[in-house]
Amino acid sequence: MIIDSHAHFEPRMLGEADLLRKLDAAGVDKVALIPAMNDPLPPVPEILLGGVRLLMQSGFTRPLAELIHRATLNAEGNLRLASGEYKIYPQPDNASSFDLVKKYPQRFVSWAFLNPRASANVLDDLEKWRSYSGMIGVKLHPHWHDYTTDLLFPLFERMQQLGLPALIHLGFGKRGDYRAIAEKFPRLKMIAAHAGFPFYQDMWNFARQHNIYVDLSSPYIDENLARAAVKVMGAERCLYGTDAPYGFADENHSYDYTAIRGWVERMPVSPAQKEAIFSTNFLALTQAKYSPT
Ligand SMILES: [Zn+2]
Repeated sequence: MIIDSHAHFEPRMLGEADLLRKLDAAGVDKVALIPAMNDPLPPVPEILLGGVRLLMQSGFTRPLAELIHRATLNAEGNLRLASGEYKIYPQPDNASSFDLVKKYPQRFVSWAFLNPRASANVLDDLEKWRSYSGMIGVKLHPHWHDYTTDLLFPLFERMQQLGLPALIHLGFGKRGDYRAIAEKFPRLKMIAAHAGFPFYQDMWNFARQHNIYVDLSSPYIDENLARAAVKVMGAERCLYGTDAPYGFADENHSYDYTAIRGWVERMPVSPAQKEAIFSTNFLALTQAKYSPT
């Protein structure tokens, strides 16, 4: 079984009918949706992505990558790119994702996307969204929602009690203090998006001793980084994910589901380990129970 643990529901880029057709064609059985948090974005040139990836792979050059990131956020908290300004939504569109889950409960589950900085009471938000069927955990984005991760502690306290996983796109410095989180909440199931962006190797070594997992999604990483993450952390801590519909366009400029699947298929690991990356790690973390499609 193949389960995409990290995909954005963005019908303005990939509509429902096209999405279903592509999933069928690519043999992706299930998708864990992430509600939209931003205006649709243009593709980022690989040369730029590759450069920033490189800067983030060392503690010495990572501050340069952080400076580049800070320059892309304007005073209103929106993204400022060469091609224009793109809104970041303080409150992501959870309702649309859960509508799709309701329509296709065997194909889709969803993360509830929460933002402690924009909410009067994020614990109430958690209670609201976890009552929706198909809710498998919480997505958090301190990198773009621009808050320090200590703001998440009350939420993590409750999620740890509930056994709910957190999929978190870590930010730089105190906006991605995975050490403090793991030490304060040792039983919290934390999945660091994009192989631990922006820390990568520095996080993998620490993660082996803690309850930390990674997804292997997005051109924030490449095939070499995905392999290295699996080698250091072990296949049992890595999850297949895409970041669709962002990155990896096919010849029709639409999302290419074969790219990251190929990374996993070509990895020098056993078939059982590939199965773990493709689905069983996700199922164990989310305790999701599916009936066959
Ligand atoms: Zn993403």
